[in-house]
Amino acid sequence: MYSYKRVKVTNPISEWNERYVLSIDNHEEIMEALAHFCKKQKIKAGVVEGIGAISEATFRFLDPATRKYVDQTFLEQMEITNLTGNISEKDKEPYLHIHLTCSRRDYTCVGGHLLSARINGACELLVTDFGLTKLKRRFDEETGLNLYDF
Ligand code: FE
Repeated sequence: MYSYKRVKVTNPISEWNERYVLSIDNHEEIMEALAHFCKKQKIKAGVVEGIGAISEATFRFLDPATRKYVDQTFLEQMEITNLTGNISEKDKEPYLHIHLTCSRRDYTCVGGHLLSARINGACELLVTDFGLTKLKRRFDEETGLNLYDF
């Protein structure tokens, strides 16, 4: 599904962190593989960033006026120009909040809140585990979002 390597860092602030370079295998679905990795490594709080190439992506747009989700799938070869997001915990499971921007053959970009993306090429991520910190989420009635529960 993926391979990874633990990264040693010299920045004293980062000594509290565990970092991993994560390479997800071709044709895997990113959200699924990343959730699996977080569960396996017991990462309950952190951040993720990365790049790669995909042949399919589904994004979710929450219309604040109607509070309805509008999902859209793009079925074409695209470069991940940026994947960024955070890792927390909800109902004892890894909770991933990931945003992704990708470029098409004509160099225009699409992106948004990521539901799923299928790798076609590579996906290289840097995962930072905050270690001792716990970040939980709760459903917020006003926004309809799962917000941090500090
Ligand atoms: Fe989002």
